Order: sequence, then structure tokens, then C-alpha cells
Amino acid sequence: MKEEGMKRIQAWQNEMKAYQLALTTMAYDRLTVAPESGIEYYSEQAAYLSGVLYSIQTDTQIENVLHALKDEDLNAEQKRMVELHLKDFDRLKRIPKEDYVSYQKLAQISEKKWEEARAKKDYSVFEPYLLQIIETQKKFCALRDSDKAPYDLLLDDYEEGMNQEKYDAFFALIKEKLLPLIHEIAMKQDAVRTDFLQGLWDIEKQKQMMKVLQKYLNFDPSWGYMGISAHPFTSCFSHNDVRITNAYHEDLLLSSIFSLIHETGHAVYEHQIPESYEGTVLCNVSMGIHESQSRMYENNLGRRMSFWNRNYDQLAALYPEQLKDIDQKTFVRAVNSAKPSLIRTEADELTYPVHILIRYEIEKGIFDGTVDCSRLEEVWNEKMKEYLGVDVPDASKGILQDVHWSDGSFGYFPTYALGSAYAAQFIHAMQKDMDIDKALSFADMESIQKWQKERIHCYGASIPSLQIIKNATGEAFNPQYYIDYLYNKYRDLYQIK
Ligand code: ZN
Repeated sequence: MKEEGMKRIQAWQNEMKAYQLALTTMAYDRLTVAPESGIEYYSEQAAYLSGVLYSIQTDTQIENVLHALKDEDLNAEQKRMVELHLKDFDRLKRIPKEDYVSYQKLAQISEKKWEEARAKKDYSVFEPYLLQIIETQKKFCALRDSDKAPYDLLLDDYEEGMNQEKYDAFFALIKEKLLPLIHEIAMKQDAVRTDFLQGLWDIEKQKQMMKVLQKYLNFDPSWGYMGISAHPFTSCFSHNDVRITNAYHEDLLLSSIFSLIHETGHAVYEHQIPESYEGTVLCNVSMGIHESQSRMYENNLGRRMSFWNRNYDQLAALYPEQLKDIDQKTFVRAVNSAKPSLIRTEADELTYPVHILIRYEIEKGIFDGTVDCSRLEEVWNEKMKEYLGVDVPDASKGILQDVHWSDGSFGYFPTYALGSAYAAQFIHAMQKDMDIDKALSFADMESIQKWQKERIHCYGASIPSLQIIKNATGEAFNPQYYIDYLYNKYRDLYQIK
């Protein structure tokens, strides 16, 4: 039974992966090169394929095979595969196919309306779609498991083992420890020079800088590709075909640089997951660990002085006018500066988790009924004022800035802050094993990537993320590393006693 059962699962996985690859390819194409007017036709076909995929994913015969396999003598990886597949069945099987397919269509249209609303800076264009998305998500959660709090179900979808209780504790720490520091720093803006970052930065030269950084980071064209999209993202086609995107803005030098470093962190992770897991559910790694790898590249490595020992001269040579009187130290201090601001994706390392905290509180309120859904824009603006002290001038810089809610990805945002906290703990452990500054100074990303592979990437999804942290760092997840890291770094940079 065991051999035969595993064979059937293998064949079923292959079929599923073929549809998933088709949808991934279409989505990447749509977000990078497809003309806007093709969206409706595309959406129809994508929804059709999603429907076929849904039927494969919820095949009851396969579910029976999985249940039978559970009682067989399986090795640890096989056991985990069966467990993860059964979890996916639980997530999907109680949602009627028609409802699932019409939700996919609604999500496509809603995303389009979100784009339109953002361009018009008018939340009311998007609001009715968002409310429909919220209603459908609530309905789906009730179908899945009416005993569980809906938001707990969603949080676990994005990060296995997480729930509101655990996130509440995590975000309470952010509130208690970081908010006062952010307020202090807001009053001491003169301590770090950032004026030279104003101005225009030729995009062709930004692209040249990308080549320098790709080489430095070992983002190799033999397995990786970078396209252009409105918002940077990473998409894994397979082990040896990982695509990232970037966005260029003439008035923002740091945006494309740190987006590239961030997305490369995601890409290297996908590439270094064991090849033997290719095409299996063991590649479906946790969002939190994924974000820890990208944010570790972007912040814990990319904003270090030693990272720029090899890269600053090349950047300064590309912009001899703008960076004429700016030495490496001044530049690195500037890329670490912190100031409360409106946009999450452009936020500095210190205020970033507060942007996530705000989203977490709103999402939680949406699903437990404590936030009035007819007042979402106002609630957003009130929280921005309360926590970051900023006034939101219009919805495009407020509630409409992120795509996530337009397709119903509630529960996703918190993994971003969690990933940053994981990253701090990983770096602390890495530091014990190797001299990170030496590696960065000698353009030796290989040693760092080897450490990542041996300690983190090698597991794929074969064990839960909290177990990966324990194995990699020798102790359970501890957000205090993150708080300490930010505390020490920013008190030092802004000379706060
Ligand atoms: Zn990311």
C-alpha cells in the first residue's frame, strides 16, 4: 500500500505542479510585460485554470490515499508531506468549487479596482470590492472551521503555528519598546545627514549598479532573472529558474538598490532549497522564514558598513556629481536613518514594524468585529497619526498603498515583521560561527550563503519554521534579539543615552 500510495501522490503532485507553474508564469508575465488591456481575457483564463487546479487539489480519492498513508510506516519527510497535503485539503475542501472560482474572479477585478482607486486617490472606488472580499473571506473561514477564530486560521495559513495570542505578545513588545525610541528619534533628525539623497538619479546608471550588486550577491543568470514591475517581488518557477523584479524611480536612489538586495535574499533561498524537494510540497516554505532571508539581506547585511566596503566606490563613480563630497561612512549612516513616514515599502528598518503593527490591528479588528468596516480609511489614518505621528494626505499614501487586501491576503502582513525578528536571531547565530564583516569586505557572499544553506535552507518545509529557528540558532524564537538589535543600533546612530 505504502509504495503504491506514494506513487499516486507523486503523480498527483506532478499534475498539480504543472498547473501551478502555468499560473505562476502567467502572473509573472501579467505583472511585468503584459499590456493593460489584456487583463480581462487573461483573468477569465486564469480563473478557469485555477478551477481545474482546485479540482485536482480537492480530489477526494487522493485525500483517502493520504489518510491511509498516515498509518503506514513512513520516513520523516514522507510523514511531513502527507501532513502538509492534508492541511491543504482541510483549507480548501469545504469551499464549493463555484464559490472558489467566483472568488478568484472577484479577486482579479478587485485588484484592478484597487489600482484604479489608487491612481485616482479615491478609496470609494475600491471600497465595495474590498468589503465583498472581506465578506467572502469570513464566509470561507466559517466553512473551514467554525470553531476557530477566523483570523487565527488565516494567520496560520501564512505562518504555521502562529495565532493572535502569539502575535499579540510580539506586537506588544514592538509597541512598548520601539514606539518610545521612534518618537525620540523623530525629534533628533539633525543627527544623521540625509539631504544628499534628494535629487535625481539617472535610471540607466541605477541599472548599472544593479549589475554590480547582482554579481556581489551571487545572483547568477544561470538560475536567476530580473524583470521590471510596479512593485518588486520574487516568483519561483523552479529550483533553477527564480525570477525577481525591480522598480526604478528617478527620484529615489535607495529604492531599487535595497529592493534588489531584498528580492535576492528571497531568490537565494528558493534556489538553495534541496533539489530533491523540487516539485513537492516540501518546497512550500514558510512566509516568515522567507521574509527573514530577504530582510536579513536588505537590512542586517545590506545596511552594514562592511557591505559597502566593496560597493560604495562603484556607486560613487556612477554618480560623481551627487556623491562628490559624500564618503562611505556618511552614505551608510544615511541608509540607516529612521524617520516616521507614510509608505511601508519605503520605510526604514526601525519604523517598518510599526507599519505592520497598524495593519495587524486593523486586520484583527476586521475579523473579530471590533473595527467598523465602513470606517476602514478613517481607522487607518487615525492609527498612522497615533503611532507614527504622520497625517495621511490621501488614500494612495494611506489605505490604498498595498496590494495585499485587494486579493484577500489577510494574515500575510504580520509575517513581514516576524521575518525581521527571525532575521535578527539568525544573524546573532551566524555571527558566532563566522566573521560576517570580513566575508562582506572580501565580497565573499559564498560563505554566508553556505551558512544559510546548512542552517536554514536545507530544511525546505520539511520541518515547521519555529523548529528551523531552534535548529539553526540553538534556541527557541526570541524576539528580544530583534528589539536589542534595533535598540543598540539606533541609540548609537542617533546618540541617544
Ligand atoms: Zn519580501
